[in-house]
Amino acid sequence: LADRESPAVDDYLNEALGLEVPELEAGREHAHNAGLPRIEVSTAQGKFLQLLVEISGAARVLEIGTLGGYSTSWLARGVGARGKVVSCEFEPLHASIARENLERAGLSDRVEIKLGAAQGTLERLIGSRGAPFDLIFIDADKRNNVVYLKRALQLSRSGTVLVLDNVIRAGQILDDPAQHGLQEADLRGVQESLRWLREESRVSATALQTVGSKGWDGFALARVL
Ligand code: SAM
Repeated sequence: LADRESPAVDDYLNEALGLEVPELEAGREHAHNAGLPRIEVSTAQGKFLQLLVEISGAARVLEIGTLGGYSTSWLARGVGARGKVVSCEFEPLHASIARENLERAGLSDRVEIKLGAAQGTLERLIGSRGAPFDLIFIDADKRNNVVYLKRALQLSRSGTVLVLDNVIRAGQILDDPAQHGLQEADLRGVQESLRWLREESRVSATALQTVGSKGWDGFALARVL
């Protein structure tokens, strides 16, 4: 029942709470028209990310996985005009659509898109010894989740918020990854990242399941101690 009804409930919530921001929805559409995959967060999840940034008082946000800049835009709204979002993306087309969308939404001043494989970008950020990030949203190739978490920890301070998307995968999280063919490495990456969150003594974590227009999935949330 939830599978059938929950996309309509998301539509209802978008309407009831007035969640949609026209510039951001136009950017989403622009990305779809340019052929980018429809794997960005939902509107309600985007607003949730903005609120997490605002509630935690984050001024410096790191995102791994930009796509067309949809979640990036919500994060950028959260940090405000004096804040900064650094977002990592290795597909040049995705990065260029994201830049166009951020420009049209009036958010490009506070966002820097780093083109290239995220692992290299994170290592360069660590090497540059800049200020720590206050919130880090990990939403790229799931097989590298543990690498991203380890690097995220190096780029954090006590109190930094970590958000890891797509950790439920319609319940596949219960399965043996070897049964999942092309998805095997990603599923293994998700399972390993949850174990890492349990075993790493410098973080305190939970995970929540979600339903809605993106189907049955969920995210892990952690605080750096
Ligand atoms: N966060 C976006 C949103 O909600 O609007 C969705 C991101 S999408 C799920 C994942 C993105 O990560 C894709 O654009 C993909 O090209 C990018 N990506 C995948 N592997 C990557 C890597 N190793 N380095 C950098 N970007 C990567």
